[in-house]
Amino acid sequence: MARFVDEEVIPTAREYDESGEFPFDLFKKLADMGILGIRYPKKVGGSGGNTTLYCISMEELARGLLSLAAITAMQCLMATNGLYLYGTKEMHEQYLRPALRGEKIGAFQLTEPEAGSDLGAVSTLATKTKDGYVINGMKTWSTSGPYGDFHTVLCQTDPDKELKGLMFFFIPSDTPGFSHSKKFDTLGTRTSSLSEIYFNNCHVPPEYMLGEPGRGLDVLLTILAEIRIMIASLALGLHRAAMGDSIRYCKERVQFGKPIGKYQLIQAKIANMAVNLEAGHLMCYKVTHLIDDKVPCLNEASMAKYFTVESVCSACDEAMRIFGAYGYSMEYNVQRYYRDNRFLLYGGGTHEVLQTTIARQYLR
Ligand SMILES: Cc1cc2nc3c(=O)[nH]c(=O)nc-3n(C[C@H](O)[C@H](O)[C@H](O)COP(=O)(O)OP(=O)(O)OC[C@H]3O[C@@H](n4cnc5c(N)ncnc54)[C@H](O)[C@@H]3O)c2cc1C
Repeated sequence: MARFVDEEVIPTAREYDESGEFPFDLFKKLADMGILGIRYPKKVGGSGGNTTLYCISMEELARGLLSLAAITAMQCLMATNGLYLYGTKEMHEQYLRPALRGEKIGAFQLTEPEAGSDLGAVSTLATKTKDGYVINGMKTWSTSGPYGDFHTVLCQTDPDKELKGLMFFFIPSDTPGFSHSKKFDTLGTRTSSLSEIYFNNCHVPPEYMLGEPGRGLDVLLTILAEIRIMIASLALGLHRAAMGDSIRYCKERVQFGKPIGKYQLIQAKIANMAVNLEAGHLMCYKVTHLIDDKVPCLNEASMAKYFTVESVCSACDEAMRIFGAYGYSMEYNVQRYYRDNRFLLYGGGTHEVLQTTIARQYLR
């Protein structure tokens, strides 16, 4: 994976970032390497790995191009896990196996214009009919939305039941009534195409409801720790990129007759990056091992996500300072790291929400 990132991702990262195109060729190569199925068993077309291997791979990929890592991480986890756990054998054949081979793209939709952190406000409605469900509503901020072949979508089945009425539905994009907006223009992670998604009387069969009635949020809760630690692993990869570029630049750039790395204030920045990276690795991979051992660890995962993402935001800011005016130029990659790191603040829960849930563990 490290070689693939060095030889195929880093040399093309700038081009993808500038064009904002979906990186179909790299995505297919990752599938051929078995990465898209890394956390699924071989019996469904996966590679038989685990969360630790998944996160190591995502960290490495994020070192090359965060948006490619984000798309890949989504395909491996949120976009396909409900399908894996609750889909029928036919759905596995028709969608899961092709997705793990990189032939179909999946997306995962919680967020609506009025429902961001507050999932209780989800209003996309799934109404029961005699032969399944009919879905009406819209979603926003859908990663891979414009290219998705199928979507795992959080819907409300009975507003009176509030959170207990929420259920996930599997909705292929060729379902009549499905459409999407044009791709959003975003600050960073520019190859992970985002859009709104619309459902206008989309009929789906009963087996496309994922999970037991009344326990719809289990689809999310079973992987929430894994989502947060996946974001932590992306943060670690981006942190390594920012730190590696900073170290190289500190040694090359000479001012006042010395490489700037000889100045203590620059050394302090590198030291902070290194200490936070080491601590972040310890937190992240402690959690992946807990997940692999099936030990509940949502609080540890939330802390690791919070720490590694705050650390990478600081590391990218310090990298911009180390590069001086050249950090501000589009010629160097640090500007991309600085733009891309912002995405990590939202995915898997905002830091205000995470701080609230972490504190709740201690203030009960
Ligand atoms: C690049 C990108 C990709 C994304 N991909 C997806 C995707 O694929 N699928 C998907 O469903 N969503 C996706 N999202 C959306 C993301 O999950 C949401 O942005 C996130 O859930 C936060 O919702 P919001 O942006 O509406 O913020 P809001 O919830 O409106 O929050 C606004 C501010 O208020 C704060 N806040 C909210 N509630 C509280 C509280 N209780 N206490 C304290 N502070 C609070 C927040 O922390 C934040 O600072 C993506 C977003 C981005 C930027």
